[in-house]
Amino acid sequence: MKTGLVVTAHPGDFVWRAGGAIALHAKRGYRMKIVCLSYGERGESQFAWKEPGATMASVKAGREDEAERAAKMLGAEIEFFDCGDYPLKLNETHFDRMVDIYRELNPSFVLTHALEDPYNFDHPDAAHFAQQTRVVASHGSQARCEVSIFCAAGVFVRAAPAGDVQFQAAGDPQHRRGLGDQAQEL
Ligand SMILES: [Zn+2]
Repeated sequence: MKTGLVVTAHPGDFVWRAGGAIALHAKRGYRMKIVCLSYGERGESQFAWKEPGATMASVKAGREDEAERAAKMLGAEIEFFDCGDYPLKLNETHFDRMVDIYRELNPSFVLTHALEDPYNFDHPDAAHFAQQTRVVASHGSQARCEVSIFCAAGVFVRAAPAGDVQFQAAGDPQHRRGLGDQAQEL
């Protein structure tokens, strides 16, 4: 069976940045696995924190439930690393687990974040983590893990005609001309 891996910093990212690709490949018979590095408990849980009596544990549990239901709807399995967000606090245990996932899954492709994102440092951290663990997974293993990693298009700094520096989210075709494809293969 062909497999695909998604490495996402926060739950919201795999839903709105990769949901279509996940559902499409699941429909085509791929085993799709999402590795969700954090619950986005600090950075994308504003609504959960407004619940009366909200605690870190209740916010994380709510986000986990949402993410599990979203993954199920997309036809994917999901594993949480619970490493914390802003910043991601990835340690050796997370690293080793990620290597094991690569070797067990032997994915046909990997989707992850852009290597540069001036708005959000968790996203490039997740992309580097996906890349570093992939390299280690391909060494010293009988089952070599040779796989293409597709990073989201970068969020880049663009010099405006007037000389001002503007931040533009890649993906806006008007501001993306000549800057490569939406997905950049590493
Ligand atoms: Zn995110």
